Amino acid sequence: MPKPSACPVCGSNKLTELFRVSSLFVSRQLIPGKATDRQKLCKTKIEQNWSGQYAGYYSCANCSFDFALPFQAADAELYSLIYYSEGHYPAIKWEFAITLNNIVSYIKKLSHQPKLIEIGAGNGSFLKLLLENTFSAEQIIATEYSEAGLKAIEGLGIRCFSRDLNNLTEQDIEDKFDIVCLFQVLEHMTDIHYFFEKLNHFTQTGARLYVSVPNYYHRRFFDRHGYYYDLPPVHVGRYNAKSLAALSEKHGWDILQHLVQTTTYSERVKKFLFSQFARWQHIFPSEKIKLKILKLFLRYTLYLLLFMVNIRVITGLRLSYLGTAQWFELERTK
Ligand SMILES: [Zn+2]
Repeated sequence: MPKPSACPVCGSNKLTELFRVSSLFVSRQLIPGKATDRQKLCKTKIEQNWSGQYAGYYSCANCSFDFALPFQAADAELYSLIYYSEGHYPAIKWEFAITLNNIVSYIKKLSHQPKLIEIGAGNGSFLKLLLENTFSAEQIIATEYSEAGLKAIEGLGIRCFSRDLNNLTEQDIEDKFDIVCLFQVLEHMTDIHYFFEKLNHFTQTGARLYVSVPNYYHRRFFDRHGYYYDLPPVHVGRYNAKSLAALSEKHGWDILQHLVQTTTYSERVKKFLFSQFARWQHIFPSEKIKLKILKLFLRYTLYLLLFMVNIRVITGLRLSYLGTAQWFELERTK
């Protein structure tokens, strides 16, 4: 595996390796359980993406951007393998509520009817929230790759493109947007500079960009314990306020606000233990046992074992800044 020559955000060559993963490991993480044809195909697709069997995650000492090498995003075919069921949209109500509040106060300052675009709008949960609060369908445009998501969004009466922003032209959209929403999308992207250039085509000075990405500190914490949640080629970039500022300022966007999701200690521990328990169910499906007393016995034994094996993780999760997501509000200043 070659060493990266430059940071994709700032171009610095002061880079250190954080971790390295194999295609077998990633395919098993993305599609847990026994080796199925889907899991094997996933492994093959990952190797095609990497042109090899290994990928690394690197960190830039200059701007603190963490990124995958090869710095190559997953294609639609790989996503359709991973997200084969419709129920994969994560509940990200935390950033929805914060964004909505900030949009409401921002649009009060505008003298015209605001226009909004959501990129990678999932099943339209956030757009639905907008329609219930101050926006009409004509003011909104969305992009979404998945067929099920596209249908759900069109069902709301909202125009939706099955392409990303980088593939939209002025013929597709004549308007300029006042507000751009990008929830849990940026970490999947590699054409990050082109994205901001494109954004500048479709916005004007003063526009707002609302971004949510996984929490950098949460991911760094779990890296140290050998749990890799940012798996290439699905998650190819990991941001914090410094690296997002380094990227956005090059293109005339300043960060106005940065928030890390706050959760309680018990919420963090439960979330971690539930996810570990769910992974074990693919290997040893004790929850499918019909005899209730045996099922309960195995359930609590497994939780106890997971607790004991991960005692260092559970102790470390006391740190209050280890919520799952982080959120940014940016303003176009040039
Ligand atoms: Zn950098």
